[in-house]
Amino acid sequence: MKWIHQEGSDDFAAMTNLSKPLREKLAQVAEIRGPGVVYEGTSSDGTRKWVLEVEDGSYVETVLIPAENGKRRTLCVSSQVGCSLDCSFCSTGKQGFQRNLTAAEIIGQVWVAQRSVGPRRDTANRPVTNVVMMGMGEPLLNFDNVVPAMKLMLDDNGYGLSKRRVTLSTSGVVPMIDKLGDEMDVSLAISLHASTDELRNELVPINRKYNIRALLDACHRYLAKCPDNRQVTIEYTLIKDVNDQQEHAEQLAALLKELPCKINLIPFNPFPNSGYEKPSRNQVMRFQQWLYDLGYNATVRTTRGEDIDAACGQLVGRVKDRTKRSARYIQSVQLDAD
Ligand code: SAH
Ligand code: SF4
Repeated sequence: MKWIHQEGSDDFAAMTNLSKPLREKLAQVAEIRGPGVVYEGTSSDGTRKWVLEVEDGSYVETVLIPAENGKRRTLCVSSQVGCSLDCSFCSTGKQGFQRNLTAAEIIGQVWVAQRSVGPRRDTANRPVTNVVMMGMGEPLLNFDNVVPAMKLMLDDNGYGLSKRRVTLSTSGVVPMIDKLGDEMDVSLAISLHASTDELRNELVPINRKYNIRALLDACHRYLAKCPDNRQVTIEYTLIKDVNDQQEHAEQLAALLKELPCKINLIPFNPFPNSGYEKPSRNQVMRFQQWLYDLGYNATVRTTRGEDIDAACGQLVGRVKDRTKRSARYIQSVQLDAD
């Protein structure tokens, strides 16, 4: 495990602290092969992005985002090819669902990113310091592959990351939040995005199955299983004139009153024919101030890597398009353009 995950080796012959017969046996029965790199780009702000080809020729994307102070390097990892949940403002959702990634394909993204930066020689200088399951796909709908991959991220013989530095983001698959809590206690992020069920039904359709109350109750149960003092991260994508008004901030604050949480505001990342617009900088700051006045110190996620399309399925959407649904979507874009 150390050779593969810490040294980034893909050659059994190089694992010289193993006996020669064992190395030969391993080479006969096993293979170390990461996903193929189709595209690799570095943005002017240091954000690095990969489009990776997995087993059946599908493409997924992985993004490494260095913190401005140089202290963190956060890798954004995909869990599925496409996504079935169809959130109305999400470019991955528009690509439809193709398939679950295997555990190897998920950890392979960390392997590629770490290898490109260099081997993990010491814990103080890790190429990847944090992982967020916020790439393409809904990780809790691929539980059986996501959990073993996250366990490798935490394993001392694997990537050795602390459970606070591995974050799973979900749009709210309530029963699977409970199941996750039974297995491990990584950090949990919730894609809330709306302060009423009426609006959330529209933005995040899984809300029709598990509504806001059910989701927040699941968060409480998850936190109760964490042995330490933990908070849930509430993700709130701000969309112009949809959920960015003062009444929304007030409703949001009231909703979250009982929950130990921090709020992360994400200005909507526009993509062609989404039908939504990004709020102005001023409006984002106003929203943040309303929350502050209500007792919440919300952070605003700055957009990174814009020049390389490092956001939410946007690059894969451009590089390749494999689903019928995408074809229909593109057709509708063209129709609109006509
Ligand atoms: N499926 C999971 C994780 C992947 S999406 C989830 O939904 O939580 C990671 C985050 O980006 C989610 O909060 C998602 O709602 C948000 N997101 C998706 N499309 C976006 C866009 N166009 N602009 C801003 N945020 C977006
Ligand atoms: Fe899927 Fe998350 Fe996008 Fe919703 S926001 S469609 S759950 S990837």
